[in-house]
Amino acid sequence: MWNEPSAGVAVAALDPESSARQPAPAVVVAVEPGSIGEELGFEPGDQLLSINGVRPRDLIDYRYLCVEEDLHLEVRDAAGDLHEVDLEKDADDGLGLEFSEALFDGLRQCNNACPFCFIDQQPPGRRSSLYLKDDDYRLSFLYGSYLTLTNLTDSDWQRIEQQRLSPLFVSVHATEPELRSRLLKNPRAGQLMDQLRWFAERELQIHAQVVVCPGMNDGEALERTLKDLAGFAGGEWPAVLSAAVVPVGLTRFRPAEDGLVPVSPADASAVIARVEPLQQHFQSRFGSRFAWLSDEWYLMAGLPLPPRANYEDLPQQENGVGSIRGFLEALDDASTRLPTRIEAPLHSSWVVGRLVDEALAPVTDRLNAVEGVTLSLYGLPSPYWGQDQVVTGLLTGQDLLQGLEGRDLGDQLLLPSVMLRQGEPVFLDDMTLAELERQLPVPIRIVHGAADIVAAVLGQTPESP
Ligand code: SF4
Repeated sequence: MWNEPSAGVAVAALDPESSARQPAPAVVVAVEPGSIGEELGFEPGDQLLSINGVRPRDLIDYRYLCVEEDLHLEVRDAAGDLHEVDLEKDADDGLGLEFSEALFDGLRQCNNACPFCFIDQQPPGRRSSLYLKDDDYRLSFLYGSYLTLTNLTDSDWQRIEQQRLSPLFVSVHATEPELRSRLLKNPRAGQLMDQLRWFAERELQIHAQVVVCPGMNDGEALERTLKDLAGFAGGEWPAVLSAAVVPVGLTRFRPAEDGLVPVSPADASAVIARVEPLQQHFQSRFGSRFAWLSDEWYLMAGLPLPPRANYEDLPQQENGVGSIRGFLEALDDASTRLPTRIEAPLHSSWVVGRLVDEALAPVTDRLNAVEGVTLSLYGLPSPYWGQDQVVTGLLTGQDLLQGLEGRDLGDQLLLPSVMLRQGEPVFLDDMTLAELERQLPVPIRIVHGAADIVAAVLGQTPESP
């Protein structure tokens, strides 16, 4: 499949006068040591202009074009000089280049106006990139981000088919056409069932998600949605691989009169009561629960999380399905063989979102039973977002300052890395880790998972992330 000859834009077809979207050169930011790219002399700052006369539109095209054994590369170096490089390699060999962007022709933005959009629920006046609403099938294929399928052109559909861009991750929310159009505020959203048939006919696959807004797409509508999706879940090559059901998240910055209400404990119980029997039904029909409730539903309803075995191979873990159960299991593993005492007594404080602290109490007790260990667990709300029952990853720097004021933080403060923007020492409210450190009277240790937390509490050296 990867030898279809349609990746990228032929250099001859590039029209400098055209206002249509044209790919920019791919800018190299890193070269893997020992790779073909290093051997060829690539350096950060070089621009890859074309491969075999074709300019890649994105990383997918790049990988697709690099499958050829004979490559002719056109490269502009940081000084602006042009180079042409011919090479022969095995089909499996990559060039070992990393680029500044995954998309060389820009991000596809969304054309919907969902009232529950998290981007619209952020405070005003922040970096413009934080308000970008991506709805790009390339990012869905590359990184598993969710898209709605409402902004695809005919050539996008052709490309998905030709390059076999599967699985994609689709925000469904509802299958009933009128309801989905209303939820996404886009008449094109009503075409979803036809689109699912399109995937099925071509043996392409998706994972689905449903963001449940109480009073809008819960109850009967949710049941219909999951049953409609399950209609594509059978057979040798199911078009719909899984469906995650997640609660809507509302912040205090959302527009007034958006018609949304927060999920209450009663709503959470009702959703669980609606979906669990369907899971049983799907289990007997397909041998899989197929529809997955995120952990938040159980925590909000005050019910125990299902056992780990219920999550099968965690197909929707990125969506919060089974992630807390998985974390608890990892904590159990990491804390089964604890020492009876530690040499130097150590008092640690550990911050998590208020929604999850109760679930962590047993492991905290186990760690506190080690002589010399004092562990204080703080489950904080988020005044910043206006949410009391919040997951750990949404806590901001301001929430930490406010929630920890006047508390005994001991010798070190453990902060889970999920609070930081990916790869950056910055919280969601733009406060930097350095700023927080300046304002708190205790050293901060960022912890990267269960084993790292246990090691920190026992006073062992940090693991590499
Ligand atoms: S599709 Fe996603 S990004 Fe677009 S408005 Fe809806 S929630 Fe926001």
